Amino acid sequence: MTNNKIYRLIRSWLKRNIEGIYCQDEEEATEKLLSLIPKDSSVGLSGSLTLNELGIVKLLESRGNLVFNQNRSGIGQKESFNLRRQGVSADYYLASPNAISEKGEMVFFSAYGNRIAGIAYAKNVIIVCGINKITSNLQEAIKRAREYVTPLNCRRLNWNTPCLKDGICRDEICLFPEYKRMCCQILIVEAEAISGRLKVLLIDESLGF
Ligand code: SF4
Repeated sequence: MTNNKIYRLIRSWLKRNIEGIYCQDEEEATEKLLSLIPKDSSVGLSGSLTLNELGIVKLLESRGNLVFNQNRSGIGQKESFNLRRQGVSADYYLASPNAISEKGEMVFFSAYGNRIAGIAYAKNVIIVCGINKITSNLQEAIKRAREYVTPLNCRRLNWNTPCLKDGICRDEICLFPEYKRMCCQILIVEAEAISGRLKVLLIDESLGF
């Protein structure tokens, strides 16, 4: 992506009361995240390959942050749901979008809704995103989330949906009880009402999918 496009995107967020922060690479993004989150804060997060790739959970936990990590190995479903609920009321909430339009609208698909709740209403939200997720417009962003990202996530998590085998969305038959639909809730963030609440670290690399 050209510097001009990145600059325009960050300017567009500014007008939407969202603070866009450019990071050259993963390393800079990780440092920035750690500097934005105080050591005594609690942190919630949504499942995200981008956050996994940054290794942020380990780094936060090793310096003493309380992290509500529902993806911790060895926990049952009940505890996992409890951690999701605690996560959305933590001091900071971290997530990555499925797609971002060039105008700055961010698209998030969700199965359980915890990341929708966290992004929409947590005290402080930091979104982390590689430039590979930028699309030309909102329609393309929704298309990317539905037709590209979700089938890959269904495959990654072996989620019983029509798109699991061949990667093709069949929305009309993706219904319970035959299938466990993953696309249950959609959040589109167009702007932010509370100054300083929502930040986006835009990383000049390809991260997640
Ligand atoms: S609606 Fe169903 S088939 Fe389509 S992408 Fe979502 S989970 Fe897959």
